[in-house]
Amino acid sequence: MVKETGYYDLLGVRPGASLDEIKRAYRRLALRYHPDKNPSEGERFKQISQAYEVLSDAHKRALYDRGGERAMKEGGLGGRSGGSGFGSPMDIFDLFFGGGVRMRGRQTGETVVHQLSVSLEDLYNGSTRKLSLQKNIICRKCGGCGVREGAQRRCPKCHGSGMEVRIHQLGPSMIQQIQTVCSQCQGQGEWIRPRDCCLTCNGRKVVREKKILSVHLDKGMKDGQKITFHEEGDQVPGLEPGDIIIVLDQKEHPVFRRSGDDLIVRREISLADALCGCRQVIRTLDNRTLLVSSPPGDVIRPGDLKCIPNEGMPVYRSPFQKGKLILQFEVKFPEPGWLPTDRLRQLQAFFPAQEEVMATEDTEEVELSDYTAHGGPGPAALRRRSLSRGRLRGRDAPARPVPDLIARGGLEPPGAAGRGRRSRHVQGCT
Ligand SMILES: [Zn+2]
Ligand SMILES: [Zn+2]
Repeated sequence: MVKETGYYDLLGVRPGASLDEIKRAYRRLALRYHPDKNPSEGERFKQISQAYEVLSDAHKRALYDRGGERAMKEGGLGGRSGGSGFGSPMDIFDLFFGGGVRMRGRQTGETVVHQLSVSLEDLYNGSTRKLSLQKNIICRKCGGCGVREGAQRRCPKCHGSGMEVRIHQLGPSMIQQIQTVCSQCQGQGEWIRPRDCCLTCNGRKVVREKKILSVHLDKGMKDGQKITFHEEGDQVPGLEPGDIIIVLDQKEHPVFRRSGDDLIVRREISLADALCGCRQVIRTLDNRTLLVSSPPGDVIRPGDLKCIPNEGMPVYRSPFQKGKLILQFEVKFPEPGWLPTDRLRQLQAFFPAQEEVMATEDTEEVELSDYTAHGGPGPAALRRRSLSRGRLRGRDAPARPVPDLIARGGLEPPGAAGRGRRSRHVQGCT
């Protein structure tokens, strides 16, 4: 003689049913009440799964037959960590159906999107970032039903149907029946007396919990790239948790700008270096030091682009392959009056001869002066500004002179060579 028949009733079998009969009954009911098909019956699905978990196990079934549901809750199913004593209904379902059986069109919770600020170094070298966030998890105390153990959950007004029938007397022998949504439970079929609420979650069925996500940044990942954590979103009773999506937000780098797999670095050199060749030191994003030289005889013009192959960003999922490091040159011209007039003639002698213009009787000699339109900057200032903006920079990006780059640790003045330095020749960039 069994003490209670609750679990047998849930599966619709007699207390003396065989294991086969119990399995058949569970299969039929689990498919019918699976949350994928019947989202509103999540609680029913859970109860059926719990009943099956107990009755399909000879030891648990004997315990239940002797002591009823109370015996099960008082540690009869001990050994599970921190749960309500029962396995997850989904796990039981998966175990029964051979695992991984999920129907299409399943109901899932909301997808949550977080932004993660990352440096260009993180994306170059790869890294793991810890992201701390708050999420809802099903209350472990009440297993997501929101009531204290043994308390009534069914709405007393509609007896769980969610609808109520009102009867209007229209005349001496005429009545009208009107079916409306239950005013007590708003059609939920469930209503919990305030004093019956689960004390852990206050009847909300879920509690907030801190969660640390480890976000692995692979080499070569890009700004705006998404990393999905499946089913890590808020848990809601009867629904599969949604996903958490991390969107990478790359911070601006003081030295390098990224363009696809290429890195662009702006360099300001003197006119003498532009004409006679120069050496440049570049500290890479993985802290190597490159000594870059342009050979004597090579002329660098303002806005010229040169590049170093395979020193750009690593290619995502193919990190041994790298893009180009592109140097964008600005040429700093000397200030007016930088050389006495007689030395200027000496200098001019080094340059290709120009056709001499002679003054004749019908020519008028005039001199140039700085031009200022409406009090704005003179032509020299305008020219300097357009040079410092450069072709590759964003239109509004401020020009950054070389000393500033040095202060930020991105650049060293040429000649301050140290250990582990590699010398590279720049190439014309195509
Ligand atoms: Zn609770
Ligand atoms: Zn109701």
